[in-house]
Amino acid sequence: MAKYYPVAKHYITDEEIAAVTGVLKSNFLSRGPVGQEFEKIFAEKIGAKYAVATSSGTTGLHLAMLAANIGPGDEVITTPFTFIASGNCIIFCGAKPVFADIDPKTFNIDPKKIEEKITPRTKAILVVHIFGQAADMDPIIEIAKKHNLIIIEDACEATTAKYKGQSVGTFGESAVFAFFPNKQMTTGEGGMIVTSDQKKYELFMSLRNHGLKFDPSEQDYTRLGYNYRMNEMSAALGLTQFKKIDWLIQKKREIAALYNKFLGPHTDLLETPFTPGHNTHSWMSYAIKIKNLNTDQSPVVEQLEQRGINTKPYFNSLHLFPLYRDRFGYKEGDFPISEAISKSVLTLPFYIGLEEEDIKYITGELISILKELKS
Ligand SMILES: *Cc1c(COP(=O)(O)O)cnc(C)c1O
Repeated sequence: MAKYYPVAKHYITDEEIAAVTGVLKSNFLSRGPVGQEFEKIFAEKIGAKYAVATSSGTTGLHLAMLAANIGPGDEVITTPFTFIASGNCIIFCGAKPVFADIDPKTFNIDPKKIEEKITPRTKAILVVHIFGQAADMDPIIEIAKKHNLIIIEDACEATTAKYKGQSVGTFGESAVFAFFPNKQMTTGEGGMIVTSDQKKYELFMSLRNHGLKFDPSEQDYTRLGYNYRMNEMSAALGLTQFKKIDWLIQKKREIAALYNKFLGPHTDLLETPFTPGHNTHSWMSYAIKIKNLNTDQSPVVEQLEQRGINTKPYFNSLHLFPLYRDRFGYKEGDFPISEAISKSVLTLPFYIGLEEEDIKYITGELISILKELKS
């Protein structure tokens, strides 16, 4: 049988299995020491004072919005070119997601498009670092300062990415990372909020735990909280993976270099990922831009699938999903760059275990399909 290449695949060894089994044999399946250890080393490596593990990236984002006091009547500026949770977490709080179009090269929010979206209701900018590389933070921070806006980072795709040498997750009031199996590392389901603000930290600890007081001077259950905790099995998986995160990303970097080698010469058909010199990419995905096609990328996806190669046309622009059209009146043409990228971007199989022979096969098939579709 021919080989099948999924677009993403987690990397689990006996070490992870032993760590999870160890937890299962211990006294704590939740609220135990492994989660605390995971939080501690995560915060240290990112360079934040505190980390709070959550049940998913999405629940972490919900709490980040709540802790920033986002509520009905508020607007939060973010990118339309992202995973749906980046927009939904704003809606969870009754606020309005306001989009600013993207940079066609990095696929991240274009700082030049932010200022024109600011109104008296704007309260925060939710910066997303897409596919594993940082958005252009300096001008974003400048705009936020000038207009007194909170910065929150959706770093769900960018664990250990850096901007000008500084880790993403340390640029705003809080930031959220995610560990779904298609990310740089996994906990099955899980997320991590980081902050260096002690008061926000205490609020996160309380909010993820039913609103139970964290500060002893408060009364029990003073606020509405949730159960957004991470369990100890997930934390054991996460701790083990995070200890080797640099190695995991180095492996991905090598695979990206192989893709670049085989795809780089075909500039008439596609563009390989663009990384500005000030960015340290953390390689969640390998995303190319297809050029000179009369259609969107769907025939390419279909034909690759027939050849055992699974690819994903991430992302559809958020503003065109029914919820966003119906609730906020967004429509086609509102964010033309994001819409164009949605039709031309393609993420390729990208996981540890892919060898040069595999990349050669995948890229060979891709190039022949693109040539055929073009002529
Ligand atoms: C994965 C992801 C999330 C949500 O993470 P989950 O852990 O799947 O809830 C949020 N934002 C972005 C940009 C993501 O890629």
